[in-house]
Amino acid sequence: MEKRKLIIVGSGPAGYCAAIYAARANLQPILYEGFYSGTAGGQLMTTTEVENYPGFPEGVTGPELMELFRKQAARFDTTILTEDVVEVDLKSHPFTVKGNKTSAQADALIIATGATANRLDAPGTRDNEFWQKGVTACAVCDGAAPIFRNRPLYVFGGGDTAVEEATFLTKFGSHVYLVHRRDALRASKIMAERAMNHPKISIIWNHVLEKVEGDDVVRTVVLRDINSNAIVQHEAGGVFFAIGHTPNTAFLKNQIELDPTGYILVKPGTSYTSVPGVFAAGDVQDHVYRQAITAAGSGCMAALDAERWLSEHHPS
Ligand SMILES: Cc1cc2nc3c(=O)[nH]c(=O)nc-3n(C[C@H](O)[C@H](O)[C@H](O)COP(=O)(O)OP(=O)(O)OC[C@H]3O[C@@H](n4cnc5c(N)ncnc54)[C@H](O)[C@@H]3O)c2cc1C
Repeated sequence: MEKRKLIIVGSGPAGYCAAIYAARANLQPILYEGFYSGTAGGQLMTTTEVENYPGFPEGVTGPELMELFRKQAARFDTTILTEDVVEVDLKSHPFTVKGNKTSAQADALIIATGATANRLDAPGTRDNEFWQKGVTACAVCDGAAPIFRNRPLYVFGGGDTAVEEATFLTKFGSHVYLVHRRDALRASKIMAERAMNHPKISIIWNHVLEKVEGDDVVRTVVLRDINSNAIVQHEAGGVFFAIGHTPNTAFLKNQIELDPTGYILVKPGTSYTSVPGVFAAGDVQDHVYRQAITAAGSGCMAALDAERWLSEHHPS
């Protein structure tokens, strides 16, 4: 079985950035970029224009940006394997990483497997329908796009994130409707009051999404009252899902400390996890910021932490 100093799992901004730093430090990492787990390149592969990544004043598409990240990682001697990691053994050292086709061992591991934005599944919301053409799961990323300007926007969810996203969208939409399937928000009291008192936010209680319709862009949402089953149709310019994320940590099988929602716990301000020699970067350990730039920054931190840990514990 091949043995390296470092293996990186995941290929979003965090994984590729960790690879750039680790490879330039002569660690010759293997990077598992995923296969069935999601598109290699991560969440940005599912979006069009990225306007807030520094260095691209005119914007760049998500896939173009990730292709550049990948090229830069490969340039500095990273072995990129297009496989999912299905299992890891973190109980014995060196760590063993099992992919779909290959297995490898390493003294240190960086986990950068990201998180998947949860989506409602209703006609009109799917990949070849209005997904990313007016239906999205990230208001901070997409809310400023021209298609949403001065149009009625619908946010689905009931927690703090949903309220935050609805409030953010009031800067762009003509009005924001927060649609919740219950008769009370799950959000904290202060956040719930903020939504209820906001002049540009209305809450639609006890409704669920039935479908999204439009032509080139979203034009209407169809909602169902869960009590009466009555169907209502509203003019809409955008649909935003704010129903949480699922961190991609199932393959770790509880060998590392996670928070109750499955995010990897790191020592604050570092990428150190509960297992010495295992580091975490990007959205898999961050449910607050969740941006490409923060993921890339934490990938850099993980590579620097891993390099220092390796030179102390495995100098040769
Ligand atoms: C629709 C949308 C639009 C967005 N727009 C923006 C934007 O405009 N600007 C911005 O800054 N941010 C944006 N974001 C957020 C940004 O994409 C994420 O914060 C960022 O991609 C997180 O990077 P990451 O490296 O942590 O993980 P991810 O990008 O999630 O990548 C993780 C990678 O790990 C792989 N993987 C998972 N499990 C395994 C496994 N077991 N084995 C091997 N590989 C595995 C996956 O296939 C994936 O490639 C957007 C997100 C979404 C969903």
